[in-house]
Order: sequence, then structure tokens, then C-alpha cells
Amino acid sequence: MFVREFGTTPDTVWAAPGRVNLIGEHVDYAGGLCLPIALPHSTVVAVAPRTDGIVRLRSTAGEPWNGRIDDTAPGRPTGWAAYPAGVLWALQDRGGIDAVFVSSVPIGAGLSSSAALECVLAAAMSPDTDRTALAAACVRAENEIALAPTGGMDQAASLLASEGHALLIDSSSGRTRRVPFEPTAHGVELLVIDTRAPHRLVDGQYARRRAAVERAARRLGAASLREVTDRGREGADAVRSLKDDVLRRRAWHVISEIARVRLAVTALEAADFVELGRLLTASHLSLRHDFEVSCPELDTAVEAALTAGALGARMTGGGFGGSAIALVPAGETPEVVENARRLAAERGLPEPAFATVTASAAARQVS
Ligand code: ADP
Ligand code: MG
Repeated sequence: MFVREFGTTPDTVWAAPGRVNLIGEHVDYAGGLCLPIALPHSTVVAVAPRTDGIVRLRSTAGEPWNGRIDDTAPGRPTGWAAYPAGVLWALQDRGGIDAVFVSSVPIGAGLSSSAALECVLAAAMSPDTDRTALAAACVRAENEIALAPTGGMDQAASLLASEGHALLIDSSSGRTRRVPFEPTAHGVELLVIDTRAPHRLVDGQYARRRAAVERAARRLGAASLREVTDRGREGADAVRSLKDDVLRRRAWHVISEIARVRLAVTALEAADFVELGRLLTASHLSLRHDFEVSCPELDTAVEAALTAGALGARMTGGGFGGSAIALVPAGETPEVVENARRLAAERGLPEPAFATVTASAAARQVS
């Protein structure tokens, strides 16, 4: 495609994965912990740097875009080109590029096609830069140029995760640690269920949840709910004593979810997938009832998985649509898939898409 579009050969070809978060949802802006894996699905870029300040971008999933390096500013360009152009801006590239993107990451399914798009270009353009610094540049591209709020989990997973491991991310310190995650070696599969829920107008919801979490921390005299969590029983009692019912439930989700991530790490270190499953389901119930960010499609996927024998299941990502995950004993995945299809159809919901996934490698050079 590069040769056809530009009549020359690319300098280099890189791939970077999408991600799915095992547990630790809606806690990053509270200084909490999350535990994503990199997916086998990835975005590939073929790229050649230029020296004349011209940027030419092509994708099998977007309109061609031609512009100049100086055209990039907050909110410009619009559309998909904002992500790669934002990366060049964040890396302070002055020369420009010709680039072609091809991706197997489902777009807009909550599996972070946007981070895969940013990270693959950042890694290809700056292979010698520290990966944590590259992730920060990609976050700036998404926040400041594409104007999309994102906490940094997606970019860290795409650039720092490794095969056979989940990546524990502590958003209060920015530190990361590898945790073994090889369910197939223990007779268990991780199934991703893309609900294909229609896009909802939920723009204000993220900001409202975030504001509630920050207000709860202030009421409790803490800089963050992470700080409250680290106070142990005393912190939990303080959250229970919050008078405002909504605020109390929002805060309870956050401190209980951070505790569940810690328990999940312990479970994974012992390869205890029954315990991990239990934690996934508890996380879903907390997100559904206390944090109120689920939706009928996600609840249906989780219910279908659990009734068909999954060890645990939960919505993953920001909520109101996107994907769910289920931990399924090997061999029972076809039943879970069948049940999720049937229940969605019965309830008049879109037919979901399914993928069994393993923890895969971060951004890497392909050729
Ligand atoms: P998610 O990251 O969960 O898939 P986002 O809304 O954050 O969803 O990002 C999706 C957007 O990212 C798309 O609308 C598009 O602008 C851009 N995008 C991601 N991957 C590609 C790609 N391969 N080609 C073109 N645009 C892409
Ligand atoms: Mg995204």
C-alpha cells in the first residue's frame, strides 16, 4: 500500500497493540491501580521520514490526509489525522513523514485503537527514546491535539506491556510492574466480547464521575481517594460515613476497586484464576451499581458469560458501551459465545463480536 500510494519504499515498519484492562476501572484519576494486557490485535505503520515539513497520512480505516507539520495545533487537524499529527507535534518532529496505517484493532470498541495508532508511530519515529517518555508524548497528542480525555493506561500498555504478562500501573507514582498472566497454561481462556453497542452521548458522564471522585477525596481531607484507600480500615469507615448517597457509592467503587486490583495481582502470582474470576465479577457489580457506568449491552454480555459457566466477567474500559471480558474454562468458550449471542438477540441488542486473546508484546519493529 505504501509503494502504491507514494511510489517509494518505506524506511521501517512497526506494529503496536491495542489493550484490554483486566481490572482497575475508573480509578486512574484517583491515583489508583490498573492491570491491562496488550492484545494480539495491533496497528501497523509503514513510514518514511521527510525533510520538507510535509505530512501525508493514509489508513485503510480513514480518509487520506495531506498537510504540513505546522498545521498541527489544539483541535487541528480534525478526524483521525489528529492522532498521528499530534504524535509528531509532541515529539517536536520538524521534518514530516509519509505513513500508511493498517490495523486489526477494532475501532471504537474500547480496545484502544487510538493508543495503538499513536504508539506505533511514536515508536517507529523514536525507537531509542525511553518508552515511558514516549507514552507521555502519546498522551499529550491525544489530550492536547485530538482533544480526547485519556488517563495514560492505554499508551503505557501499548508501549510497555509484555507477552505472557499483565502490566500493573500505579497512576499515583507512574510506576509499572509486570505480573504473569498465562491463563491458557492453566486451562482458562480470556474472551473479549465487543458489544457493538451504539455510540451514546455520554461526553458529560466521564467529567461528572471524575468530579465526584475528586469531591469525595476533598470531603475526606485527602489529596486523592488512593490516599484514603491507603488508610486501610480507617479510610473505608470514612467513606462509609459520607452523608451523600451518590458520593458515597462513587467513592466506595474507587476504594474497593483499588483493593480488588491488589487482590488480583496476588491471585495471578498464585495462578489462581478462580479467585481472579470472582474479582472480575465483583468489579462489574461495583461499576454497574455503585459507579453506574454500565449499560444493557454490557450487563447482558456479563450475565450471558456467567450463566454459561465463566469463572468471572466484567465490563472493561470507560463504560456505556464497548467491550466486556470473560474468564472461561478452556473448551467452554463456544457455549459462552452462543449464550451471549442468544441473550443479545432475545433482548433486541446488536450481535456482539468475539475474540479469545492472550497477553501479547508491546510496540515492536516488524521489518
Ligand atoms: P478506541 O481507542 O477505544 O478504539 P477512540 O474513540 O479512543 O476508541 O479512538 C477511535 C478513533 O481513533 C477513530 O475514530 C479514529 O479517528 C482513530 N483511529 C484508530 N485507529 C485508526 C486507524 N487504524 N486508522 C484511522 N483512524 C484510526
Ligand atoms: Mg481510545
